[in-house]
Amino acid sequence: MSEKITKSDQEWRSQLSELEYRVTREHGTERAFTGRYWNTKGAGIYHCVCCGEPLFSSEAKYESGTGWPSFWAPIDESKVETTTDRSHFMVRTEVHCAKCEAHLGHIFPDGPRPTGLRYCLNSASLKLEET
Ligand SMILES: [Zn+2]
Repeated sequence: MSEKITKSDQEWRSQLSELEYRVTREHGTERAFTGRYWNTKGAGIYHCVCCGEPLFSSEAKYESGTGWPSFWAPIDESKVETTTDRSHFMVRTEVHCAKCEAHLGHIFPDGPRPTGLRYCLNSASLKLEET
């Protein structure tokens, strides 16, 4: 398992934009169809906006129609961790960066093959490096 990165709230705040901070460190959600990547189709690797770890590939990105960038799998299972989120009167699977615990989004069981999963992520949690 890779080493964790921990920083103080103040350090994260100085590094991130207000929206990035609210989403990744306070489990916020950007509004649908407003993020920088919901409609991105370019090839590349999506990195964690907080620690730079490569998390998702454009090869697993698909158009879900939700207004959030959606993937059917991470680059590697070890790159992300999940928790059970019982907020908002729902039981959902929360997903975050394994390295720095940045909140990324939620996982739903209505994705395409081969995994059948939809990683519904916030653009604000990601940084695309086009290849
Ligand atoms: Zn991270």
